[in-house]
Amino acid sequence: MAILDSARLESLRLERFEELTGLKAQGKKVVGYFCLYAPVEIVQAAGAIPVRLARADYGSALAGERFLRADACPFCKASLGKFVQDPLYQLVDGVVIVNTCDMMRRLPEALTTNFSVPVFLLYLPRTSELFPNRLQGFQAGLSDLKAWLGGLTGQEWQEERLLEAIDEANQLRRKLQELDQTRAEMPPKISGGELFDIVALATLLPPKRMLNLLNDLLAVLRKPAEAMNKNRARLLLTGSILSEEDRTLIEIVEEKADIVADTVCTGSRWFNEEITVAEEPFAGLARFYFSRTPCACRRPNTALFEYIKQQVAARKVQGIVSKSLLYCDAYRFEVKQLRQEVGLPVLEVDGDYSQVNRQQLRTRVEAFLEMLR
Ligand code: SF4
Repeated sequence: MAILDSARLESLRLERFEELTGLKAQGKKVVGYFCLYAPVEIVQAAGAIPVRLARADYGSALAGERFLRADACPFCKASLGKFVQDPLYQLVDGVVIVNTCDMMRRLPEALTTNFSVPVFLLYLPRTSELFPNRLQGFQAGLSDLKAWLGGLTGQEWQEERLLEAIDEANQLRRKLQELDQTRAEMPPKISGGELFDIVALATLLPPKRMLNLLNDLLAVLRKPAEAMNKNRARLLLTGSILSEEDRTLIEIVEEKADIVADTVCTGSRWFNEEITVAEEPFAGLARFYFSRTPCACRRPNTALFEYIKQQVAARKVQGIVSKSLLYCDAYRFEVKQLRQEVGLPVLEVDGDYSQVNRQQLRTRVEAFLEMLR
């Protein structure tokens, strides 16, 4: 049985949406972000409410074709389509975008031109070696973000709010790591789909409320549960950003196997590391965001492969499913190296958010699982 069923998830989302509408009416600013390199702690400390914009489906991708060409990244098209269709996106007062992949670098223009939404573009070096000049440049960008947010909220900067936001975010990441760890068990205590839904909720709810919810969920998981099937294949999911509304692949895979680990930015990479606050907070934040387990669009991305190998060993993974969004070269290019470095069978899947290939996908997944027996 699901630890957080879809009806409860939906009501938590709806409640939060209504709460955000009320807060906005009182003058609070809502700041959206797409990527896990966006420093939410600074947004929170500036007095705004950070909300991750990771909802994308086929309808919104089609709607986005009014603003981007048809063969653009489905996530970027859908993100623009959401600004037309999704009431949550219409609450947003400003957006922080990080210049990661090429399509992400073009989103700011499309957003400001078509929706007049103020955008801050944060420059993250795409070369990931931690050279001092790169780190200093990135830290300067974080200070510019602080100033931009100050202009948006009209609030005085309070350093203690930043320390509090860092502490809360770290507690949240730790709690999510604890929850994720239950997927390491044989059999796993939660499914990959549940983990992804909970991470999505963590990017919408206020940290304290999410922490309470996670404590409740962990207490349920500590109770003895009905015996589950131990003989299902244990898989790792990797690849492009997986939207909150794109559960097709996970659902099909988890009909017959378990996703016990992942390296996706809307999954475990959202919480797998913590900020060290021993140094000056902005220096700590710069170091943390600069050095997060890298997305495929950064080079070198050796640490991404190290993370994959570590997850494979720790979770006794037998096979890998790699999902790339259509036209997402960053992740499609990595599949060859993935096969060479990890040495496990890899199922390579790509697609947009269309459902037309659902049955074909099920056949491919079943054939892959047969091969793992
Ligand atoms: S896939 Fe990479 S660039 Fe895209 S949102 Fe995730 S971390 Fe950012």
